[in-house]
This record gives sequence, C-alpha cells and structure tokens, in this order.
Amino acid sequence: MQLLDGKATSEQIKKELMLAVQNRKKEGKKIPHLAAILVGNDGGSLTYVNAKVKACELIGFESTLIRYDETVPEEILLAKVQSLNEDKSVDGFIVQLPLPKHIDELKITQAIDPRKDVDGFHPVNLGNMMLNIPGFLPATPAGIMELLKRNNIETEGKKCVIIGRSNIVGMPLSVMLSKNTNPGNCTVTLAHSKTKNLKAICQTADIIIAAIGQPGFVKEEMVKEGAVIIDVGTTRVLDANNPKGWKLCGDVDFEKVAPKCSFITPVPGGVGPMTIASLMINTLRAMELKGK
Ligand code: NAP
Repeated sequence: MQLLDGKATSEQIKKELMLAVQNRKKEGKKIPHLAAILVGNDGGSLTYVNAKVKACELIGFESTLIRYDETVPEEILLAKVQSLNEDKSVDGFIVQLPLPKHIDELKITQAIDPRKDVDGFHPVNLGNMMLNIPGFLPATPAGIMELLKRNNIETEGKKCVIIGRSNIVGMPLSVMLSKNTNPGNCTVTLAHSKTKNLKAICQTADIIIAAIGQPGFVKEEMVKEGAVIIDVGTTRVLDANNPKGWKLCGDVDFEKVAPKCSFITPVPGGVGPMTIASLMINTLRAMELKGK
C-alpha cells in the first residue's frame, strides 16, 4: 500500500504558485486577491476558511475575510456578493457553505459573477465543465483529479465507484472521471443512499471514492485487493485524547482497508489540502483570465 499524500502534493502546488506570484511581482503585475465570506461560527467552516486564508498568505496572494453573524439577513449577504462582483481589486471569492437555514444557498451561489466563482459552484461553471468549455472546476473534484495526475494513478479503462452524489463533490467528479482525459476515461458508477447492493458494486471497483460524511463507512470487505481509495469524508468525532476534544474522521475504515489497497488517501492530509490547492489555482486563473 502507498499513501496518496495530499499534503505533500499540495505543498508542491503551493510552491509553484509562490513562484508564479514572485514572477508577477518582478514584472510589476497584479497579485491575485481572494476574498471569503463566512457566516456564523461553525467550527468546521472556521477551520476551512482559516486554512484558505493561511494558504493565501503563504503563497503571497492577497486575502480578505468578511464575517457575518449567523442572523445576517439574506439581502445583506446578496448585497455583499454584488459589491465583491464589482470590486476590481478582488479576483475571486467564495461564500463558505453551509449557510444558515434562512439563507437560500442556491440564490447566493447564482448571484456570484461566474468569472469570480473560484469555488466552481455557479451553474455557468458547472455547465462549462459538462461541455469542456474553460471555466472554474469545483475545487474538491479538481483537487482529486490533480492528486491522481501528479501521482501517476492509472485511470483509463478503470471501473470507478463514487459514493455520494453531492453537487460539490460526487456529481461533478463523476463527470470529470468519465471524460476522455487523463485522468479520466473511467467507467463510473455514482452511488447514493438509494443504491442497492453497494457492497457488491464496490467489490468490483478499481477505484473507490467515498464522499458520504459517515466515518468508517467503507469497510475492508467492500474493497477488492489492489484498489485505489480516495477518502473525501471529514467528520468531527469526539475524542477525549485529543487536545481539541475531537478528531477528523474519513469515510473509510483506514486501518482495515489500507493493507488491501494499492493507494489510499489519509484523513486528514489527503483530499482536504488538495481542495485548498485547487482554490488557489482557480484564483490565479481568475486573474489571468481577466488579462491582468
Ligand atoms: P453531502 O451533501 O453531505 O451528501 C452525502 C451523500 O452521501 C449523498 O449523496 C447521500 O445520498 C450519500 N449517502 C449517505 N448515506 C449513504 C449510504 N448509506 N450509502 C450510500 N450513499 C450514502 O455530501 P458532500 O457535501 O459531498 O460531503 C460528503 C463528505 O465529504 C462530508 O464528510 C464532507 O465534510 C466532506 N467534504 C470534504 C471536502 C474536503 O475538501 N476534504 C470537501 C467537501 C466535502 P443521497 O443523495 O441519496 O442522500
């Protein structure tokens, strides 16, 4: 078994981006600027946004964090999105999900200018992805594709089972891996909570990608010898031995599954850092696409 080290791969990407920023500075060009809107105090969202801001600082991007109270009215958020759309100094921005229940996530996502939608969630960008038109790819699936590519994981002709059909991970990833690209050219099965005989389906998979949000869901008996396993899940589980009081758990029973596979991503240190790296790549692209 070999670890698919998302942390190490993302460090390499960040170094490349750092160099790109330094070159831009030398040429007197603009430095990419990423803004993030965070609503409320959810621990997970706070961790993700802080990690994104930290990555910007490391690479040399400008970053702006805009925070709102949990009770912020939808109109205020929409107005902020509009002002970021118009702000020429901001190249790309994200609205950290999930949002409180009184806010319509789709409405907010649709309000973002697709040219600044570096999370790649806007319908225009998802449509572009379907039709192979250049745009922004959703950060987590794009990060997984980059991880496969940079670690020379063979995907052509492979049978890939993706568990979880969310709009931000499973669904777009199923499209990307089906395409005539490298990585790609997989025969993809997209499984969900209504899928029957999931164990048998997984047993035939060369690649399993789990994006469910249920710790340890993928068990040893579901995995065939030599399979590649990508674990997207990140669930906070109470842990008295951890100073934080919790630990991050993936969707795969790592200890039991790892010895059977050829490659496996750890949690943490697998898909998470690659998501952030993709966001940074998208931000640089957002600026370059504007011809700055
Ligand atoms: P989500 O919106 O939470 O949806 C979960 C998906 O899992 C749904 O499609 C659901 O099926 C499916 N599912 C639930 N129980 C199932 C079962 N017993 N058998 C088969 N499928 C089942 O998904 P998400 O937003 O993609 O998040 C999934 C996990 O990935 C979470 O832990 C999240 O924190 C993590 N995540 C990590 C990153 C990262 O960068 N590392 C990024 C995004 C998400 P139905 O559609 O039928 O309900």
